[in-house]
Amino acid sequence: MEIESITFYHVVMRLRDVFETSFGATRDRHCVVVRVDSTEGLTGWGEAPVDEGPWYSYETVYTTLYVYREFIVPLLRKNRVLEHPRDFLEVSSRIRGYKMAKAGVEFALWDLYSKSLKQPLYRAIGGVRDRVESGVSIGVIGDMDKLLKLVGFFLDHGYRRIKIKISPGWDVEPVRAIRREYGDIPLQVDANAAYTLKQVDVFKKLDEYGLLMIEQPLHYEDLYEHSILQSAIRTPICLDESIKSLRDAVAGYRLGSYRVINVKPARIGGLQEALLINDFAAKHGIPLWIGGMLETGIGRSFQVAAATLSAVKYPNDISESQRYYEEDIVEPAWSFAERGFLKPLKKPGIGVEVDIDRLEKYSTRKYRFKLA
Ligand SMILES: [Mg+2]
Repeated sequence: MEIESITFYHVVMRLRDVFETSFGATRDRHCVVVRVDSTEGLTGWGEAPVDEGPWYSYETVYTTLYVYREFIVPLLRKNRVLEHPRDFLEVSSRIRGYKMAKAGVEFALWDLYSKSLKQPLYRAIGGVRDRVESGVSIGVIGDMDKLLKLVGFFLDHGYRRIKIKISPGWDVEPVRAIRREYGDIPLQVDANAAYTLKQVDVFKKLDEYGLLMIEQPLHYEDLYEHSILQSAIRTPICLDESIKSLRDAVAGYRLGSYRVINVKPARIGGLQEALLINDFAAKHGIPLWIGGMLETGIGRSFQVAAATLSAVKYPNDISESQRYYEEDIVEPAWSFAERGFLKPLKKPGIGVEVDIDRLEKYSTRKYRFKLA
């Protein structure tokens, strides 16, 4: 693949509803869409699901655009012929961190690569299934009646697992209420790092409700304290924010910090690192699932592909496009192929087409760099 040009779009899309987590409320979703055009006339698409501010991660749209312009574009200019998407890791290895920025480009290269092979992306990465289970994530609602109605709505709609975001003061009660109303449904919680070890009693109480897992209860960079908490409770701990690479996955496994990993390919630098974590997980019997960051239909394509990997054993945070957006920037928008399941498309690459008019409509700025 020889890269002819690379284009970055700062996209802002209004969510259908405000999405609240323990670190704040999101109304407009920002991200950077990456377009790579090859000299052979193919186009690859990627997405860095970075937010406007450093909330989930230190990376923002502004740091991402800066890293692209100042560091990644000059490196690609010198290395514009790549045999495989993994070569980009080598090319960009001098840049520490900025994994979501790197992932945005890496994704576009995977799309381009699989299109050049005329293969669907999920086949190109070695996916082993052609449908993926869809779970739904519900923000910190703060209103019990509204929460119970929403859970009922998503269950009726076919979602195969319910996850609720929790934060101190909104944890045991909503779980108890959901269990009382809906019985033994697949249910899990996500704290987004809102607790400390001093609040171990909350997790001991949650232990009574047969949750599938408790996601990222403690500090977003911690592995050690999670190992202490995991030894004190029965419910599996799932790590999200704390796992930024295979190295973290290995260290956490050796420490006993988790029993499940939420793999967000964008958080760990792209699909290549997801493949490495998948191999490690498969070897050690660690179940994975794929998380989301309110992606547009472009980013969602990479989640769907990653969810076909062999070690993925739980329903994923990959919902239909309409869960978050009135209209998506891809055609077709992502929707259930069967009740509760999304299917990767059989066309080459990500399989969906980007609607350029809509992309332009939602873009607040656009930068194109010619490399060849
Ligand atoms: Mg999470």
